[in-house]
Amino acid sequence: MTDYKFYPFRFTRLKNNQILLINDFGDWIVLNSTDFQKIIDKQLDLNSTVGLNLQSRDFLTEEYTSFNLKRLAHRYRTKKKYLFDSTALHMFVMTHRCNHKCKYCQASSHETSGQHLDMSIETAKKCIDIAFESPSKYIKIEFQGGEPLLNKQVVFDTISYAKNKNIEIQKDLEFVICTNLTTIDNDVINFLKNNHNVQISTSLDGSEALHNQCRVYPSNHGTYQDFLKKLNLMRKELPFNQVAALTTISKYNLYQMKDIVDTYKNLSFNSIFLRPLNPFGFAKEKWTELAYPVEDFIEEYIKTLDYIIKLNEEGYFIREEFASIFLYKILTPYSSGFVDIQSPSGLGIAGTIYEINGDVFVSDEARMLFRSSGNKKYCLGNAVTKNRREIYSNPILKDILLSSTIEALPGCAWCAFQPYCGTDPIKNFVQFGNDISHKAYDENCKLYKAIMTKLFEILTSNDESKKDILYSWINNTDNLENKGIVA
Ligand code: SF4
Repeated sequence: MTDYKFYPFRFTRLKNNQILLINDFGDWIVLNSTDFQKIIDKQLDLNSTVGLNLQSRDFLTEEYTSFNLKRLAHRYRTKKKYLFDSTALHMFVMTHRCNHKCKYCQASSHETSGQHLDMSIETAKKCIDIAFESPSKYIKIEFQGGEPLLNKQVVFDTISYAKNKNIEIQKDLEFVICTNLTTIDNDVINFLKNNHNVQISTSLDGSEALHNQCRVYPSNHGTYQDFLKKLNLMRKELPFNQVAALTTISKYNLYQMKDIVDTYKNLSFNSIFLRPLNPFGFAKEKWTELAYPVEDFIEEYIKTLDYIIKLNEEGYFIREEFASIFLYKILTPYSSGFVDIQSPSGLGIAGTIYEINGDVFVSDEARMLFRSSGNKKYCLGNAVTKNRREIYSNPILKDILLSSTIEALPGCAWCAFQPYCGTDPIKNFVQFGNDISHKAYDENCKLYKAIMTKLFEILTSNDESKKDILYSWINNTDNLENKGIVA
């Protein structure tokens, strides 16, 4: 029997009694209880299949060598690569105005008119200047609101300004307009025809009945029919996939998640993001009307994930984005770009948001907190009056990094799922009055654990078809097309 040494890993027991081991570099393996006990008792034969597997995945080694430590440091750095890439996502609040009055509006937008509620082109240019100073090679500018297209000329001019600036700077530049679609008109269509790297992101909460429960005009009239008209117009005039949609789960559509998926399928979307409601803006004010226990969300989500996988097996490719965020971390050497679930959090360092007056907040939730309560704790400075160095040297950014490094947080430090997980200090602050949450009461923690457990149950099963579907979601390819099932 050869003696061996351990690399850092944590473990948990799955429903089927297998033990799931996950190491600091993001590799994982499942063992039966007998083999696991052998490891602990130092009775494992390193030349057995299990011994060789554990060595090849960096759970065990015969000797610590400097070569291996360098190799592992490289793997660890790859997982944390986003820390070296700097701010890539820059969100612009173009206006606080909106032509909708959605019940859960987390941005606290309203129908009032007036230019004082819009970002001016002068402010937008200053924000673009700051964004381009980011060392990141990749810059994504996302226009939000309110409804950003109510300030459409400034959106167009900001895109043109950024593109002109980029002729010299040569970043990998991309734009997203987050719109409810009902404001799309010929001006917008023509602009998009001439600007090919502008994606459209919209909201769709399910069938007409479900969508209209929350997504209404100020008159309380449902918005679904207008949404559909504009979606069809966009798809007729522009590339079919230019519009992607997200769903917000409130109490109104939680128990109909299958219907939501069917609507996405009927409208030929190939991706769906089943997002729980966040306690910001109007959603917080109407929390008792709109919210639900996290246990209910988990139960419905898991059932719906099974349904989505079944649809894929039957030949319709549709990826669930929440699961895909974790799958990307579980199945590749990299972290995902989703700033809320990173350690330390990507707030401020991977993404920032510019308010209409140029105030720079570390995240959408941070500016929502300010909008709903006046709390400016997570504002880094102002893009009009300060330079990038001054903004990003704000001590609050360091506090956020410290309080979101889950490797050092109680509960997370010994959690098996830690290498794939993260925490959001702003959500923690809103829920617990502290940037660090109490894990026993942390609903995001419960949800993340449940999703990862479900994914590992599939990945460690003998069901090759389901596993193939999960792999296809991160490969960004149509698994079924590869099998020749879909034309
Ligand atoms: S948030 Fe929860 S699931 Fe994530 S690492 Fe911490 S304890 Fe584990």
